[in-house]
Amino acid sequence: MSDKPERTEINTLGEFGLIDHLTNPIKSINKSTLVGIGDDAAAIENGDFVTLISTDMLVEGIHFDLMYSPLKHLGYKAVTTNISDIYAMNGIPKQITFSMALSNKVSVEALEELYEGIRAACKRYNVDLIGGDTTSSLTGLVLSVTAIGQGEKEKIVYRSGAKVGDLICCTGDFGAAYLGLQLLEREKQIYLSNPKIQPNFEGQNYSVGRQLKPEARKDIIEAFQQNKLVPTSMIDVSDGISSELHHICKSSNVGAFLEESGVPIHPDVEMLSIQFNMDPITCALSGGEDYELLFTIDPNDIEKVKYLPDIYISGEIVDASEGIKLHTKGGNIHDLTAQGWTHLKNKD
Ligand code: ADP
Ligand code: MG
Repeated sequence: MSDKPERTEINTLGEFGLIDHLTNPIKSINKSTLVGIGDDAAAIENGDFVTLISTDMLVEGIHFDLMYSPLKHLGYKAVTTNISDIYAMNGIPKQITFSMALSNKVSVEALEELYEGIRAACKRYNVDLIGGDTTSSLTGLVLSVTAIGQGEKEKIVYRSGAKVGDLICCTGDFGAAYLGLQLLEREKQIYLSNPKIQPNFEGQNYSVGRQLKPEARKDIIEAFQQNKLVPTSMIDVSDGISSELHHICKSSNVGAFLEESGVPIHPDVEMLSIQFNMDPITCALSGGEDYELLFTIDPNDIEKVKYLPDIYISGEIVDASEGIKLHTKGGNIHDLTAQGWTHLKNKD
């Protein structure tokens, strides 16, 4: 018999399985830790307020490709995608730290561009860059942002608050960032096979822009404040609606009934998905990187969202025993599978 130590490959667990596996034994010991692992940001009691902290890493070749990601956009995206997690808690981002591991491929000029993007995002979202770390990398560029935000204790929204009968709402539209990436990848392959052919993004500014320079939904959080609306649960859509709805249902111990007709899709996505031989709803549900908000509200609050711009009612929270279902435009009902980002792109 072999006495080789047991070895389990990471991909047998998947990203979320791995996080669960490693962090399950971890229990918070400080009373001030209101919520630790498992939400968009951790929530820490801080006097009358709650401090929110979220961190994310972007790795060259996995999350971005320097062949088509302008560094200015990349800096901007690194910030906006992180503060999106603070908005997902109904908080206001205040500070970020920014860390990077640099390969000798990047020049000072390139990093100046990266920082131009970081500064633009900090200005747009009213956050201060307050520190970070700089080191070297043997393989490629690695960026990491930690976002720190603030909220009032009773207004912080977790993934775990959805109740049976709540309405499922979402903002913006879905699938464009995913198709933008497909387009960038396609044009990259064409260029690599013949550098004389220039990339053609004609008429595709919307999808390419959604991929390269996403925005976070500051406006929606402000609209919630103005209308005195506190959603019952919320998450930002980084991995596609299906996957995020599964997170809400798992954390809240409920099921969901999503209407295909309630999932907003931009006309450009309808057109572009045909080019890629894909169903637009598949791109919307499983694409990812939209950085829109998916949230639930008490049905008594419907008047508060009905007249707010860019918010759509997409379904209803049901009992956990009913599962998580999609009601298609064709009248069929089937399980909503959480394929997410990993399935489509092997990322994360
Ligand atoms: P999001 O998509 O909103 O950025 P993630 O899926 O990255 O969230 O993370 C889900 C939760 O798991 C978060 O609470 C995050 O802080 C936590 N998490 C992720 N990786 C680790 C890790 N290596 N150790 C501890 N917690 C982690
Ligand atoms: Mg998130």
